[in-house]
Amino acid sequence: MIAVGLDIGSLAAKGILLDGERQFRVIIPTGWSPRKAGEQLLDSLREQAGGAEDIRIVVTGYGRVSYQGADQAVTEISCHARGVVALLPKTDTIVDIGGQDSKVIRLNDAGKVIDFVMNDKCAAGTGRFLEVTANALGIDVDDLAASEDVSQEAAISSMCTVFAESEIIGLLASGVAKGSIIAGLHRSVGKRVAAMVRRLGVGEYIAFTGGVALNRGICRALSEELGRPVQVTDFCQFTGALGAALLAKDLG
Ligand code: ADP
Repeated sequence: MIAVGLDIGSLAAKGILLDGERQFRVIIPTGWSPRKAGEQLLDSLREQAGGAEDIRIVVTGYGRVSYQGADQAVTEISCHARGVVALLPKTDTIVDIGGQDSKVIRLNDAGKVIDFVMNDKCAAGTGRFLEVTANALGIDVDDLAASEDVSQEAAISSMCTVFAESEIIGLLASGVAKGSIIAGLHRSVGKRVAAMVRRLGVGEYIAFTGGVALNRGICRALSEELGRPVQVTDFCQFTGALGAALLAKDLG
């Protein structure tokens, strides 16, 4: 039996196929149709695996309701928890920052979800916020971390995406270096997310997931704000898809 996990996010759709020891993954932009994105993920995974019969599919992410081809649709909270426990078994706190939402999940010793908080009301502190601000700085979002100058951190007071964009333009006009602005942005996201973590109590073992975890600057700022190390794996953006694939495996 082949297990497939699809995580159709607001910006990026991720898929993982597990076939015994073999594992394949794919990421594509979600685009305007979450249903089409899910179909494309499955086609691409099937192609990589050289065809696949007897498949179980679990779908998660914001697009999970639009995709009808799965055996089961499961919340992101459950899939992230399952994926993180497989990768970092000691984890008691998950911080997930995606394209348009951020969430914190607390796990018990058995890796079960005991509580969570979610911010999906505004783009502040999410991938979208970073994309808009990177654009205002003329830098690719992937290059933000490499371009920061932590020795000269600028103070950024706006967390609202629209206000932050104009604040950045104002700072640039007054001669503040881009590296300082980026360090300030990372700090402001770190502070905001750390405040969310504190609402549930800061655990001992913190895992950071979602595409924004690829940004080392945010990771550093979050770790400094929480006063604890923050673990990031190569799978950070695929954690939900991995959890979904493992749940698909359980369907047998
Ligand atoms: P969603 O599931 O909501 O679509 P993801 O968890 O896939 O979101 O994260 C998407 C976000 O990850 C993007 O908005 C972007 O800010 C960030 N991101 C993706 N790749 C990178 C990278 N290489 N470096 C820094 N940030 C990245």
